[in-house]
Amino acid sequence: MLTDLIKIGFPKNCLSCSNALVKNENFICSSCYFYLPKGELAIGINTDSGKLFEKNDSFFGAGHLFDFDKEGKTQHLLHELKYNSNLPFGEYLGTLLGSEFHGLLSDIDFLVPVPLHPKKEYQRGFNQSQLLGKGISSVTSIPLSSNNLIRTRFTETQTKKNKEERKMNIQNAFEVRSPQEFENKSLLLLDDVITTGSTLMECMKVLSSIEGIQIKALLLAKAVY
Ligand SMILES: [Zn+2]
Repeated sequence: MLTDLIKIGFPKNCLSCSNALVKNENFICSSCYFYLPKGELAIGINTDSGKLFEKNDSFFGAGHLFDFDKEGKTQHLLHELKYNSNLPFGEYLGTLLGSEFHGLLSDIDFLVPVPLHPKKEYQRGFNQSQLLGKGISSVTSIPLSSNNLIRTRFTETQTKKNKEERKMNIQNAFEVRSPQEFENKSLLLLDDVITTGSTLMECMKVLSSIEGIQIKALLLAKAVY
């Protein structure tokens, strides 16, 4: 009876445990959020995600919010974003990223979501990294740059590929339209998941030739590979 009344008053449920959300909770209840496995909440070249990057003079570190867990809770939430097209949830995850890493982003000039190929974005209807960027931007006021780094090559999904195949598959997939725009700027590359780091390394490859550029990366989750 009481639970029914609570459900009427608060019709929304946690995307992870399905319990009814209470006031001030959005999408994930505070208990689930607390227990979701997290990364170091730091941005550096020696963090778990930073270590996936090859040495590069323009690279200044990476950080991630969630670690994939054995029970698949993190995966379940990412699935909700990517395959159930829960766009407001994607933006909300961005605000979480923005809040947790706020103090570490004061030097960033542009948030740069890893682009999808236009054909892929059309098929999916959105770019999940772009949604994260919107959320981060709303919390930090750092501007989003979504059309300077572009994807010029349509690539197969990386899911079933090994590290070497991933690297080959993504090679020469990106271009920078106007390098001057990023000269002497500090960028924060954004993506939903880092697995082997091959996609982000490929972005770094085209960006790092730009004069005075500094690149960091922020990921929603790090997958175990
Ligand atoms: Zn929950």
